[in-house]
Amino acid sequence: MATQKPQDYELAELPTELSAVPGCTTCLSLVVARQNARSDGDYSAVSDRNVELRGHQAGSH
Ligand SMILES: [Zn+2]
Repeated sequence: MATQKPQDYELAELPTELSAVPGCTTCLSLVVARQNARSDGDYSAVSDRNVELRGHQAGSH
């Protein structure tokens, strides 16, 4: 089973990049942290923020 290539995923367009819900400071801080992580080239942190944002929006919106 060597057909999976997770690194190819990064070449595709990001399909599920969530954005902040207007007026929600939790969303905003996560999106800002994600942008900062991306500008640092810290893609594992970007991924972590996306997971947090998804979890937050699933629970709070
Ligand atoms: Zn929110």
